[in-house]
Amino acid sequence: MTDYSAPLADMRFVLEHVARLSEVADLPGYEHADLDTVMGLAEEAGRFYAEQFSPLNRIGDRQHSRRNQDGSVSTPEGFGKAYQRWVEAGWPAVPFPPEYGGGGFPWLVGIVMQEMMTAANMAFSLCGLLTQGAIDMLLHYGSEEQRETYLPKMVTGEWTGTMNLTESQAGSDVGALATRAVPADDGTWRITGQKIFITFGEHDLADNIIHLVLARVPDAPAGTKGISCFIVPKFLVNDGPGVGRGSLGERNAVECVSIEDKMGIKASPTCVMAYDGAVGYLISEPNQGMRYMFKMMNTARLSVGLEGLAVGDRAYQAAVAYATERVQGNPVGAPSAGAAIVEHADVRRMLLTMKAQIEAIRCISYLNAACIDLASRHPDEGVRSARAELADLLTPITKGWGTDLGNELTSLAIQVHGGMGYVEETGVAQHYRDIRIAAIYEGTNGIQAIDLASRKLGLRGGGVMADLLAAIDATAAEATAAGGELGEVGRRLAEANASFRSTTEWLMANGLADPQNALAGATPYLRMAGIVTGGWLLTRSAIAAVALRSRGGAGGVHGYNADFLDQKLVTARFYATQLLPQAAGLVSAVTAGPTDLYAATF
Ligand SMILES: Cc1cc2nc3c(=O)[nH]c(=O)nc-3n(C[C@H](O)[C@H](O)[C@H](O)COP(=O)(O)OP(=O)(O)OC[C@H]3O[C@@H](n4cnc5c(N)ncnc54)[C@H](O)[C@@H]3O)c2cc1C
Repeated sequence: MTDYSAPLADMRFVLEHVARLSEVADLPGYEHADLDTVMGLAEEAGRFYAEQFSPLNRIGDRQHSRRNQDGSVSTPEGFGKAYQRWVEAGWPAVPFPPEYGGGGFPWLVGIVMQEMMTAANMAFSLCGLLTQGAIDMLLHYGSEEQRETYLPKMVTGEWTGTMNLTESQAGSDVGALATRAVPADDGTWRITGQKIFITFGEHDLADNIIHLVLARVPDAPAGTKGISCFIVPKFLVNDGPGVGRGSLGERNAVECVSIEDKMGIKASPTCVMAYDGAVGYLISEPNQGMRYMFKMMNTARLSVGLEGLAVGDRAYQAAVAYATERVQGNPVGAPSAGAAIVEHADVRRMLLTMKAQIEAIRCISYLNAACIDLASRHPDEGVRSARAELADLLTPITKGWGTDLGNELTSLAIQVHGGMGYVEETGVAQHYRDIRIAAIYEGTNGIQAIDLASRKLGLRGGGVMADLLAAIDATAAEATAAGGELGEVGRRLAEANASFRSTTEWLMANGLADPQNALAGATPYLRMAGIVTGGWLLTRSAIAAVALRSRGGAGGVHGYNADFLDQKLVTARFYATQLLPQAAGLVSAVTAGPTDLYAATF
């Protein structure tokens, strides 16, 4: 089994030439996030995750988190110590505001850290990920008192957070939830109901768990318009702001009644949580919970999309290592002594398919994160709103395509391993099992596709998508005009974008008028959007690599050696000739409409 090694050069290249970290570092408050500082941080974080989290990945898979008779939950051996080291090193705080003890780095930097943490140990990473979601909610919508009471301990990781949306009858349809909140005389609320599938709902890693719970207040409107969001701490916090802030009081009436036996991420306790008149604190206004959740969706969905990249990359690293060691067969024309399987064309095809798609989804994810940063802090209102729009458009692509790829990449990694991939010994089967959930939670990929093909396509009357299509065409034209090695890449990108444009126009004409058309074609459309957007950013990478190479000569320049830059071109060419043409093949599925889907009987 191979260890994880953070792909620092690739990360740096995307930060510098695709996501444009320098623009983010120009934003007020982010001046310290220059490339050298960020890469120094990334190097240290990469080492930390490889040494502390990665060795626990297999242990977690074997031992699982377990619920004890008294309702407490024990995480696997070594998790508690590693968590403490994580907190002591300050890693959870990196992307949060300094006033709550955070490192004050942009989201883009947080995403780089998250990629490494997730690749090292996806199950473990979920504790931090859910806490991050809860922090984000409190930062945006918590009162000053709530922020001061909870955030300092959550930002450091001393307390963790959860998100409680799902109930047995309310999964994708969150509006069907039935957990009740009734007002108490002292201005607090009493929460009663049962939530299922709550990640790290109970555990032994931290002193307190701050549950964010969606519930209905009396006389709330039906559906999503009647959802409110509450803070429900596992232990009540004695004193609000000021003296004794953060000291723990009584145990609240919330408990983990069982944990799920799952296919993967076995170290992450997935809890059924019972709230029995638990004390809760309303976040901001009643009946606005869904609106608040929507606001935070971009960051949460980006983080889950990133799981596909992270675990896919970990599986890719294992596949490369295995392919260079495993001797089997002889490539054509080679002596008969046997060769490592990496010499076979079909194995190389699998590895390069993985490498190219990993690079493509890293480009999309980091660009998505940079857009979120620019949208929140850029001094120019026009730039803020343009970046917010692009972030809105990219988010379902990052989440949906990123996690679909996570499944495909880990499956390919098993294929590279042959039979040894199917047995547990090599560890690659665990990646396949672990990542399977990412296409399901945080809005299933079917829901992401519907979001893209209906709500997002309609943004600014289709103008936001039109801007993306125009940007892709401009890059294609630039590469085509450059000619040489870039010419073919540019032409292929233009062809694929023509398919993307024609299906977009079809959906604009037929999908907005009759939603069934959009619903029926949404999933192939999201796939096409991922393939073409990935091709766009790999073409931009290739253009940057050619420019750097011509400036730096054979020795390379700016920290990238010539071989690294050559490889960027190889990847872009392979993607352009072998993966981008899939876009044209999806046109008919996007535009087929619902007739046959409803003609079929099941
Ligand atoms: C390991 C794990 C961890 C989780 N962690 C959390 C957590 O921390 N907090 C939390 O609140 N929840 C959590 N969840 C719940 C998760 O978010 C839900 O499972 C998910 O939202 C899907 O809901 P569901 O399982 O009820 O599936 P369903 O909603 O029943 O969906 C089943 C299928 O039907 C499709 N479908 C449903 N509705 C539509 C529609 N309108 N149009 C088209 N297709 C549709 C779906 O895409 C899917 O393919 C977790 C789940 C798991 C398994």
